[in-house]
Amino acid sequence: MPLAKIYPASEHGILRKKINKNALSVLSQLNNAGYQAYLVGGCVRDLLLDREPKDFDIATNAQPEQVKSVFRNCRLIGRRFRLAHILYGREIIEVATFRGNSDQENKNQKTHEDGRLLRDNVYGTLEEDVWRRDFTVNALYFDINTFSVIDYTDGMNAIKAGLLELIGDPETRYREDPVRMLRAIRFAAKLNFQLHPKTEHPIKELASLLGSIPNARLYDEVLKLFLSGNALATFQKLRQYGLLAFLFPQTEECLKIENNSRSYDFLIKALENSDKRVNAGKSITPYFLLSVFLWEAVQISYQAKLEAGESDYFALQYATHEVLKAQVKTTSIPRRVTQSMREVWVLQSRFEQRSPSKVYRLLNHLRFRAAYDFLVLRAETGSADMELAHWWTTFQILDAEKQEQVLTQLNPTRRTQRRRTPKKNS
Ligand code: ATP
Ligand code: MG
Repeated sequence: MPLAKIYPASEHGILRKKINKNALSVLSQLNNAGYQAYLVGGCVRDLLLDREPKDFDIATNAQPEQVKSVFRNCRLIGRRFRLAHILYGREIIEVATFRGNSDQENKNQKTHEDGRLLRDNVYGTLEEDVWRRDFTVNALYFDINTFSVIDYTDGMNAIKAGLLELIGDPETRYREDPVRMLRAIRFAAKLNFQLHPKTEHPIKELASLLGSIPNARLYDEVLKLFLSGNALATFQKLRQYGLLAFLFPQTEECLKIENNSRSYDFLIKALENSDKRVNAGKSITPYFLLSVFLWEAVQISYQAKLEAGESDYFALQYATHEVLKAQVKTTSIPRRVTQSMREVWVLQSRFEQRSPSKVYRLLNHLRFRAAYDFLVLRAETGSADMELAHWWTTFQILDAEKQEQVLTQLNPTRRTQRRRTPKKNS
């Protein structure tokens, strides 16, 4: 077994003040209870890169039940991979017990015949845990007591070189857990790292293994891929490696249609905007991007239904239903999210209806803002009327009196016409 390289404080730039207070507290409580505990994974990697870690993960030799007995604010989660969550208000510090490798199959470590690791709850030592991690840059341990980085996999040099390399035989590791392919893309995009050729090579061929991942886990991954501020780069890479087809099959189909640059531009622009928002510290919602991803598929299905003689209303209802039903097979999407997606889609045609009552009703709709942003995006990429989008941009910021005036100008004959129209059958 290779020896670890130890990097003391003088050889890395990690500062104590950059480490989360709650994580420090978890480390010292575990130490005080007689256990080993280290910071590990993305937080060590990000601290070394002088980036702000998304979360602080801890690895320990205490077993989950033992961790639980040290903390009052602890709950154990996960079946496939058992973990302890220490809760500090809304913040969670994740504590994982070192994983080991059992020589024989047993109830704690279970592999599917396709190589997929169905359960990984065999515990071990730090020296064993290292090799169960995904990338060398994610397998660095930080010892708070000696303030040093422990490196078995040469992850420190990979960080310096900007290289993402899977630990072990890439094909085996992807087969064990195909989500690692998505993680490779996510980290490459986020850190602007290159994939090591051996890590890169099997992806295209193994992409279809994502089909074996439960749709709930894929949905979680999709959120990480697209909501963390690197959505555009992630999207391009997912397509490049043939992975998008296994996350959004309908989107990939639409993008393949020749001369469909409008729908491509629309997507790209949405991803760019979304990254800008995240990087400016603004919030974004999953349903908006998801509704962008599936819009073209909805349009195609809607047209087909119109041509088959459906009414406008039902054509759209059936189309949204059909497209969402197909998508949730791949990535489960919570009902409240699909409901919002549907609303954004259905509201698009209502922007064209500008009688006073309809305008006010739309303006007060819970999804007005999202639907309006969606309309602007469509207009900017040539699939909605720019004048119409401008009209709504201006209208919504007018005061009430001005809004009345604008609507009267737009519907000058409305009142009189209505009064003059004789009632039917009278
Ligand atoms: P970030 O939190 O910034 O998204 P991360 O590297 O911390 O990135 P997590 O999902 O928080 O990713 O996982 C923490 C660590 O657990 C990883 O750095 C890695 O060492 C290990 N890990 C997570 N998922 C896997 C996996 N599917 N296979 C092997 N190791 C994994
Ligand atoms: Mg993490």
